[in-house]
Amino acid sequence: MPAIVVITRLDTRDDLIEEAEAALTLGRNVAAATGDEVRWLVLGTAPDSLGEIAKRQGVASVDRIRHEKVDSCLPDAVVEALAQYCTARPVSILIFSQNFESRLVAPRVAARLDGSVVMNAVDVGACDGGGFDVTAAAYGGDTRVVYRVAAGRPSIVALLANSVSVQEVDPSAVPQPVVTEVAVDLGEVTERVRVVEAAQAGGPRLEDAEIVVSGGRGLGVQENYMLVEQLAKALGGMAGASRPLVDSGWVDPAHQVGLTGRITRPRLYLAAGISGATQHMVGCSAAKTIVAINTDPQAAIFRHARYGIVGDCVEVLQELVRAASEVGVQ
Ligand SMILES: Cc1cc2nc3c(=O)[nH]c(=O)nc-3n(C[C@H](O)[C@H](O)[C@H](O)COP(=O)(O)OP(=O)(O)OC[C@H]3O[C@@H](n4cnc5c(N)ncnc54)[C@H](O)[C@@H]3O)c2cc1C
Repeated sequence: MPAIVVITRLDTRDDLIEEAEAALTLGRNVAAATGDEVRWLVLGTAPDSLGEIAKRQGVASVDRIRHEKVDSCLPDAVVEALAQYCTARPVSILIFSQNFESRLVAPRVAARLDGSVVMNAVDVGACDGGGFDVTAAAYGGDTRVVYRVAAGRPSIVALLANSVSVQEVDPSAVPQPVVTEVAVDLGEVTERVRVVEAAQAGGPRLEDAEIVVSGGRGLGVQENYMLVEQLAKALGGMAGASRPLVDSGWVDPAHQVGLTGRITRPRLYLAAGISGATQHMVGCSAAKTIVAINTDPQAAIFRHARYGIVGDCVEVLQELVRAASEVGVQ
């Protein structure tokens, strides 16, 4: 029986576990339609809760590849390891969570296996006569495209964050997962890219923030971004920005929210002077509550916002900063 293989990395970070569970939920749904077996391939280290996660996702077979080079995310080694893994067993589809590593690795694995690859996927369905219909975001997230990929060769799919809701199964109905260590031979692999210096990504991450206050082009001038930072601080949250502010050099790229920036899922997302372009909304539409401030009552952001303020965001931000400091919100 060919396997649907879900490939993830895990550490104790909740968002990685959630991404893995979303990919596993998708794998399980595809398997329900094709009758294939689901195998979960975990690269590198894993938390103690690995077995529990597998159980609540209904996965009976967990494979692990532990190797110094794979643990260190060296891309040539990871491609070789995955190619060896897939040639040793029949694989119908490989599902990655889309992230920095899978962007590098997934297309190369597809080339090695003579398979197909679809990035930016948001859903996968089985189609009659074998093969899969893979739905993907296109044109910066504005459009959905369905690719019909033929049966007979492995399909490689990279799943966008927040596109599949995690569903659990009744763990009592699932046998204790069997965890298998898979040996790979990476002795001959020489990395062709050498990392000279890595950016230091210390401190809290926008992706984990409970409150995000973001500013857009409506702020007018760079100095006004300070109000966004002040309000974020006063509310105990983090400051975000739309892409034009990053492109203009006003704000560090680590603060960009959106398709080509960070995907946030806060309790509160406050968008000041942001129009609500699809590419921006990709990064904040999972927020529980969106509040928008915009001078244009027709701005697209108001279609997504629970609360909207039609007005000058600079004035409103000043008021909010003042009110937050008076009330002592933290
Ligand atoms: C492939 C691709 C990837 C992209 N990735 C991203 C991404 O990751 N993140 C991202 O943000 N964008 C991204 N973009 C760009 C995106 O399409 C938009 O151009 C961008 O989000 C617009 O930013 P903005 O809302 O700040 O500016 P604008 O679209 O110019 O909107 C400014 C808004 O401010 C309002 N306004 C003006 N003055 C005031 C005022 N005084 N007070 C209140 N409101 C005011 C206006 O009515 C308007 O709605 C991407 C585009 C492409 C093609």
